[in-house]
Amino acid sequence: MSEKYYDAVVVGGGIAGLTSATYLARKKQKVLLIEKNKEFGGLVNTFSHNGFHFDAGVRALLDAGIIFTMLKDLNIKLEVVKSPVSVGIENEILNIKDLSSLLEYRDLLKKFYPRSEKEIDEVIRIIKRIMKHMDVLYGIENPVFKNLNKDLPFIFKKILPWFPKFIFTVRKINRMNTPVEDYLKTIIKDSSLRDIITQHFFKNTPAFFALSYFSLYLDYFYPKGGVGTLSESLHEKLLEFGGEIKTETIITKIFPQNNIVIDDKNNSYKYKNLIWAADLKTLYKSAEIDNLSPTVKTKIENTKTKILKNRGGDSVFTLFLEVDEPLESFAKIAHGHFFYTPSPKGLGETHRDVLKSLLDNFDNLKKEEIMLWLDKFVSLNTFEISIPGLKDKGMAPQGKTGVIISLLAEYDLFKRIKDEGWLNEFITELETRIIDVISSSVYPMMKDKIIGKFSFSPLNIESRVGSSEGGIIGWEFVEDMPVVNKIQIADRSVFTPFPSIFQAGQWVYSPGGVPMSILTGKLAADRVLKNKQ
Ligand SMILES: Cc1cc2nc3c(=O)[nH]c(=O)nc-3n(C[C@H](O)[C@H](O)[C@H](O)COP(=O)(O)OP(=O)(O)OC[C@H]3O[C@@H](n4cnc5c(N)ncnc54)[C@H](O)[C@@H]3O)c2cc1C
Repeated sequence: MSEKYYDAVVVGGGIAGLTSATYLARKKQKVLLIEKNKEFGGLVNTFSHNGFHFDAGVRALLDAGIIFTMLKDLNIKLEVVKSPVSVGIENEILNIKDLSSLLEYRDLLKKFYPRSEKEIDEVIRIIKRIMKHMDVLYGIENPVFKNLNKDLPFIFKKILPWFPKFIFTVRKINRMNTPVEDYLKTIIKDSSLRDIITQHFFKNTPAFFALSYFSLYLDYFYPKGGVGTLSESLHEKLLEFGGEIKTETIITKIFPQNNIVIDDKNNSYKYKNLIWAADLKTLYKSAEIDNLSPTVKTKIENTKTKILKNRGGDSVFTLFLEVDEPLESFAKIAHGHFFYTPSPKGLGETHRDVLKSLLDNFDNLKKEEIMLWLDKFVSLNTFEISIPGLKDKGMAPQGKTGVIISLLAEYDLFKRIKDEGWLNEFITELETRIIDVISSSVYPMMKDKIIGKFSFSPLNIESRVGSSEGGIIGWEFVEDMPVVNKIQIADRSVFTPFPSIFQAGQWVYSPGGVPMSILTGKLAADRVLKNKQ
């Protein structure tokens, strides 16, 4: 057993941990980043298979005033292209190009739901208002990544005029924290229409967050070579600044009283400060706290109870297809980032109450009943389709197309089926249904041209990045959130009750996602630097 000493150890080489470690190394801290997998990036990762390049997690990125500001601050040059979005219902497809597309979206909805014209107008009015709020929220380069001491013009010309608008906007946002499904019930009577607007969001997503998506569609960008190049560029910067890295290493024990973490090979690392940029349940389960003072212990126990009681948000099932059909055939139909719903009927309770009762009665169910449910679940759902080659031609072999199709999926269903021993069969059935639905609707030319396929379930996400319940943006939306979820106090999200341990990433602020993971990664690094003084 060896032991090494570091100013800071960062656990988790996802986008949050990479950000923390890079900023600490820039300030000449002796820093070690420890990552469980061979590769970095966690859910911001791109991989290759048979000459096709696929994004494993997030499909395209949103700046939110954070990513480009950080890249500029770290002097990282990343070649990016716009990643335009399409939205489609049945055989109507809208390629979103600018603000005017919102009116086309309105018309698209009216075409399918003519009896709800007035209600649709009202929703569009609210989305327009939210777009203005988003302009304020993300309207300036995030000050956390600016050296304010050396940039007085930024303070006087940007922050001071922006700040009152920000406070006003935050108040408005906080009033729209109701789950979007409930919020829309007060406006729209037709449940199918409500479903079409909301069913690709996590359960209980706050109304503001969900309805802000139209404005986000206009902002997606794609790094050339895939989203994983963002992680690679931070990784390179970290090495350039002299940071140390250890991959294929899992932290299994934490001794906060002695400032030590232990890995799966029984190596120990001593730290002055620790940043935990991985799943929070794992942090609380792995910490040995017996020797801490009673007051600290009680605080930790209380937080642990809250953390363990909560669950990760809905997870995702993703199907990767290698298709022997040129990109041009797909380009004629929709953009490379596409939210597609084959039926205007909507999922209704298929993915909520019906699924819940299936899970409650799971032991008495026959496979056929689950398959019948699966038929509905797939044919009525909304798919997020990504074609990396339509954003960057180099992502697929000449004349071929890689297609990524995903839908929100409930971790518990996959877990129960795995425990019953027929997960592979279930996954094959799910893959077959997705291919049938997509190729008999939006991409008919795909049907007989699939030359390779594989998929990731919520269980794969859990085992690959150690994410509880396969969560992809952190916690399930509930009243009693175990972490900070108000933007004006986001800086507090990085504190833990453990001495000298800070937290970063998708689990520490809700809703998470890439920009918040990066922001909390930087905030945690700033706290560590403060702690050092
Ligand atoms: C399909 C999909 C679509 C998405 N779409 C969007 C989107 O549109 N917008 C958006 O903002 N976000 C989106 N996300 C979410 C976003 O990708 C994540 O929230 C974000 O990347 C999380 O980053 P992170 O660093 O906090 O966590 P992770 O990426 O989970 O990184 C944690 C890292 O810690 C490592 N680790 C875990 N436990 C240990 C341990 N004990 N020891 C050592 N290492 C450990 C893991 O291997 C992993 O690399 C999407 C995700 C998916 C999967």
